Amino acid sequence: MTGVHATEMQTFLTCRLQWFWSAPKPRGLYLEPVSKHIALTFGTAIHEGLRHASDDAGSAYEAFKRTLDEELDGGFHLTFNWMEEETTNVDRQEYYDLGRSMLQEYYWYAKDHDQRFRTYAAETKWDTNGMSGRFDEVREDSDGLYVMDFKTTSRTIDMEEWARNSTQGLVYAWAARKLFGNDVQGVIFRFLKKGIPDTYEKLILKNGTLTTRKTVQNTTTFHAFYHAMEIASVMEACKITVGYAIDRMENNGLTEPEKNYVQILMQSANVVYAGILRELCDHNPFIWDVPVPTSKEYLDRMEKMLILPTAKLMAGRPFVGPTGLGTSSYDSPCKWCSFKEPCRSVRRESSGEYKRILHTQFKERSDQ
Ligand code: SF4
Repeated sequence: MTGVHATEMQTFLTCRLQWFWSAPKPRGLYLEPVSKHIALTFGTAIHEGLRHASDDAGSAYEAFKRTLDEELDGGFHLTFNWMEEETTNVDRQEYYDLGRSMLQEYYWYAKDHDQRFRTYAAETKWDTNGMSGRFDEVREDSDGLYVMDFKTTSRTIDMEEWARNSTQGLVYAWAARKLFGNDVQGVIFRFLKKGIPDTYEKLILKNGTLTTRKTVQNTTTFHAFYHAMEIASVMEACKITVGYAIDRMENNGLTEPEKNYVQILMQSANVVYAGILRELCDHNPFIWDVPVPTSKEYLDRMEKMLILPTAKLMAGRPFVGPTGLGTSSYDSPCKWCSFKEPCRSVRRESSGEYKRILHTQFKERSDQ
C-alpha cells in the first residue's frame, strides 16, 4: 500500500469531510464525481504538456491536446458549474487555443529563465515514512536542489501567500530531503496563469501609437510589447500601415535610412515605455515562480509536530462529523471542492439525502 499523499494531508487539514469522501480506502471512501469540471481537466492536460515542454512547444501542445481529447472523449461528462448546468458541448477550439498559447509562452519563458538550472530528476514518484507523492521535477541550482511544482491558476494575486502556507510544499520539501539529502533547499511553485497574452494587434492603437493603459503590465508579455514597439516604430518611420510594416520587417524590406530612423524611434519609445518594459521583463504576468525555502531545523520540527503525527492520525481513521467548513470563497477549501452538493445536504441535516447524492453523482475511483 502506498503512503498518504501530500495533497491528501492538505485536504485532511482543511476539511475532514472532503477528506473522508475523497481519501483512498481504508481511510476514506475514495469517491470522485461522475462529472468533472473543465478547469480540472484542462489543468491535467496542461501538466501533461509541460512534461514535454523541454523538447519543443509543438510536442508540448500535442501532448496537451491528446490528453484533453482523451478526457473529453472519455466516460466523463464535463460541467462548467458544479451545481447547475452540465454539458458535454465544450468548445474545444477555445481550450486548444488557450493551451497552445500557454505552452508557447511557457516554452519561451523557460528558454530564457531556466538556463541556470539542471534537471536533477523528472516525474519522480516517491514513497517514504508513510507518505507518498510525485515531484513534477527536481532542479539543481548553484546552491542546491529544488522541487519544482507546476500550478495552473486563474488568479494573479495571493498565490505567494498560498505557496508559503501550502502543506503540499512543506511535505514535498521534507520528502525531497529524505530522498536527496541536505542539498535540498526547498520548493519552487511555478504558476501558469490561464490566459492568452495580448499580442501586438491589441497593443497598437488605431493612430499607430502604443497603448499606455495602466493594466498593460498584466495583460501582455515583454516579447509582445517589444514587438509592438518595433512595429509602431516602422509604421512611423515609413508612414505605412500595420500590415505593410510587418511585411517589410519580416522580409528585410527596410532601406538603411529607414532602419536608422526606426532605431532612433525605438530608442525614444524605449524611454517613454521604460517602466512598462522593465516591469514586464522582471515579471512575466503569465508565468511566475514562488520559491519557498525551508531550513533543515524547520523541517525536523514540522516532521515531529505535524507531518508524522497527522499521517498517524489519518491512518487511525478518525471520526468525521457531518459538518463542513461552509461557504465558498477563494480562500476556502470549498472553492474547488467537488463535494459541495452532498456537503450542503449534510449541513441541511436532511438525513439520507446526501447518501443519494453520493450514490448518483459520484463513483468509486478505480486507480487505487
Ligand atoms: S464544500 Fe467545503 S465544507 Fe463541504 S466538503 Fe467541500 S471543502 Fe468541506
